Amino acid sequence: MTITLKPCPFCGAPAGMQKWHGGGPKKRLVFCESDTCAVAPSVCGETPSEAAELWNHRAEGPAAVPEDEGGAR
Ligand SMILES: [Zn+2]
Repeated sequence: MTITLKPCPFCGAPAGMQKWHGGGPKKRLVFCESDTCAVAPSVCGETPSEAAELWNHRAEGPAAVPEDEGGAR
């Protein structure tokens, strides 16, 4: 089974996956591989596919706020 990891949402660098010690034998850490990433995000999953699913989840775009409700009153 092939797992595809999306790039880091912050810097665009490829993501890496490694075994995570201290968990079950299938536990994995997915992380941004860039050394210079300002955020350096990472997620843990109990299995490789769970870790990938968590990593690949992306929020929807920002909520739209009507102009007449976003300003000072
Ligand atoms: Zn990054």
